[in-house]
Amino acid sequence: MSLRQLVVLGTASQVPTRYRNHNGYLLLWDGRGVLFDPGEGTQRQMTLAGVSATQIHRICVTHFHGDHCLGLPGILQRISLDEVPHPVHVHFPGSGRVYFDRLRRASIYDDRADVRPCGHEADGVIAEGDPSITTMRLDHPAPAWGYRLAEADTWTIDPAAAAGAGVRGPAVGVLKREGRVEVDGRTVRLEDVATPRPGQKVAFVMDTKPCEAAVRLAEGVDLLICESTFLDADRKEAHAYGHMTAGDAGRLAAEAGVRRLVLTHFSQRYPMDAPFVEEARRHHDDVVAAVDLLRIDVPSRRSERQGG
Ligand SMILES: [Zn+2]
Repeated sequence: MSLRQLVVLGTASQVPTRYRNHNGYLLLWDGRGVLFDPGEGTQRQMTLAGVSATQIHRICVTHFHGDHCLGLPGILQRISLDEVPHPVHVHFPGSGRVYFDRLRRASIYDDRADVRPCGHEADGVIAEGDPSITTMRLDHPAPAWGYRLAEADTWTIDPAAAAGAGVRGPAVGVLKREGRVEVDGRTVRLEDVATPRPGQKVAFVMDTKPCEAAVRLAEGVDLLICESTFLDADRKEAHAYGHMTAGDAGRLAAEAGVRRLVLTHFSQRYPMDAPFVEEARRHHDDVVAAVDLLRIDVPSRRSERQGG
C-alpha cells in the first residue's frame, strides 16, 4: 500500500510544554519510515501516535542540540528490545560522532539492533534509492544539516500512442530504459509517447536562520517541514540565535516553489499556533501548523499536465 504521511510526534523547540513534546517526526513512505530529530519523549509519543519501532528504517538527526537528539537512547534501545528485523541507518553530522556514540551507549542494555551509523561530512547524496536522501549544511551555531528526500522523476507511457508509433513488446522496455528506441528505421523518443511523472519530494529544514541551502533543499518539494521558532516581531532575535520566524518559513516556501508548508519547532514563549499560520500565509497559501500526534499527508502527486 502506498502511504506517504508525516506523523508528528513533537513540536516544541528548547523547552517542552503541557501541549508540545520535544521534536520528533516520523515520515511514512510506502511502508518504510524515516524518523527525524527524536527529542526526549519520542518513544512515548510513538505509542500515543500508534506507530512502532519496527516502522523505523532510517533516522536523520539534523544536529546535536538536546531537543533534536535526546530521544535517541530510548529509540535505539526500543529498536533492540523489539528485535526490529531490518538494519536501521542513522544519519547525522559527522562532526558530532562523539555525541552519537554517547547516546547510543547512554545506559546498560543488551544491544541486539543492527544500527548503522552514517555520519556525513559534506553536502550531497547520503542514500541512493527511491527516495534518495540529500543533505546540506544549514546556518546554525551548532553544525546543523537539512535533508531532502526525492523519488525519481519517471514517465508514464500512453499505450495507444506507443502502439501508434509502432512501439510494441520488447521495444517498450528499451524505450523505458534508454529513453529512445529504433522502430522500422525511425527513432521514437519517450516524450513522443509518454508524459512526465514527477517524483514526490519532501524536505526537512531545521535548525537554521534563512540561508541559500534551505532554499535548495526545499526547491519544488511537495512537503516542507520547517522550523519557525519565532514570529516576525522577534525576527532580530531569531536570526541572532540561528533560527527562523514563521514569516521566514513562508517566504522560503514561496521562493522555493513548495506545495505544502508544515511549521514546527515553536518557542515555548508562544502559547498559540494561529499567529504562526497567519504570518506564513502572507507569503504562501498551503500552511499547516504541526500539532503533536497530527498526521499530515504528503500532497498527492502533481498532475502530469503540471509537469515537474
Ligand atoms: Zn532546536
